[in-house]
Amino acid sequence: MDTVPEAGDGRTAALLTALTCEKTGPFAVRHFRPLPDAIHERLSIDTQSSSSPQAPGAPGAAERGFDVDQTNRSVVVGERVVVKWLTPPAPFPQPAPEVFAHLTATGFTATATPYASVSRRAADGSESLVALVTAYLPGARDGWEWCVDEAVAGTTAFAADLGALAADLHAAMATPSPVLPDPVRRAAPVPAAGQSPWWLRAEEALREALALTGGEDGDWLAARAGTLRAALAPLSSPGPVPLIRIHGDLHVGQVLRWRDGYAVIDFDGNPTVTGADPFQPAARDLAQLTTSLEHVGQVAILRRGASPSEIAGWAAASRAALEGAYRERLTALGHAAPLDRSLLGAFEIEQECRELVYAARHLPRWRYAPMGVLRSRYP
Ligand code: ADP
Ligand code: MG
Repeated sequence: MDTVPEAGDGRTAALLTALTCEKTGPFAVRHFRPLPDAIHERLSIDTQSSSSPQAPGAPGAAERGFDVDQTNRSVVVGERVVVKWLTPPAPFPQPAPEVFAHLTATGFTATATPYASVSRRAADGSESLVALVTAYLPGARDGWEWCVDEAVAGTTAFAADLGALAADLHAAMATPSPVLPDPVRRAAPVPAAGQSPWWLRAEEALREALALTGGEDGDWLAARAGTLRAALAPLSSPGPVPLIRIHGDLHVGQVLRWRDGYAVIDFDGNPTVTGADPFQPAARDLAQLTTSLEHVGQVAILRRGASPSEIAGWAAASRAALEGAYRERLTALGHAAPLDRSLLGAFEIEQECRELVYAARHLPRWRYAPMGVLRSRYP
């Protein structure tokens, strides 16, 4: 594939049609659930007609894009299915196909139903993930929209739902399936204090954040480098923490509010971390989700003129409600073990460092959000 598929060019519909064929050439298809019947009808109608590619009934007519910021290219087909083309195809190992298979096997449904993943094997034997096929969720808005509305309105009832959703996800991740018969593991003992891989990784994020953040913000960070490093200390020699497959990039932007409730999507892992063990403490996901509420608060202040003091209250209340509901639900489901609270605060600071690195590398206008959180935390 030399160019990125565009909605309307017919390639996404063609991929769905190809999923139903036996022979797929250099492509390997992993099926999770059957495609909805409606899409088969739609595709056979669309592919039978018309010589002009623009005419209704042409293969591309059922396709449309999304009007949101995205890292990859997602195309909606027939208002039923989303095909996320990885741009460029992502070399294996990739977490999403295995996580989709596991979540399907454990009956976790608070996500866009996974249908299939498509990968391609190159001549040298290496495999890359080409596309992920899931259900389209009508009326979906992501948390950078719906949660900012909550912050502006000062309402927090959503936070308990979000906590329960995260707990359901982690309970499913901790449940054995044929895909992951042994889903809860233990961290390997740390060879010497300060040498844990998590500490090294967090410390590296802090170093990069300090190096890449300039100006007044950079000075402010440099003056607090010691305090920030101290906040990471619990990661230096953690106890025998239980590890599960986590979402890996769990922020409110990955939680869609749609016609029938909430859905957590985008299991591609954290784009700012490469080579991390896919088994991690559950606290890493929880820390990222709670800090994302604080980022939502910063967005509400900057973009919607919300009052900083009211937002501080909103963020504290919604964080507490989220964490409380998470813990309660996880306990009720009999899976309290995966959450070790001692690492939460350190993972949160690491996450803010990652946000700063991400801002410096890819999105300079985002820097205000992690800086706003850090400045309010260490006045
Ligand atoms: P990326 O990896 O590019 O961030 P995501 O999978 O997170 O891609 O999707 C980006 C956005 O596309 C989401 O925030 C949401 O607005 C929309 N979206 C993604 N999947 C669906 C879906 N199944 N149904 C409806 N909207 C979706
Ligand atoms: Mg995403």
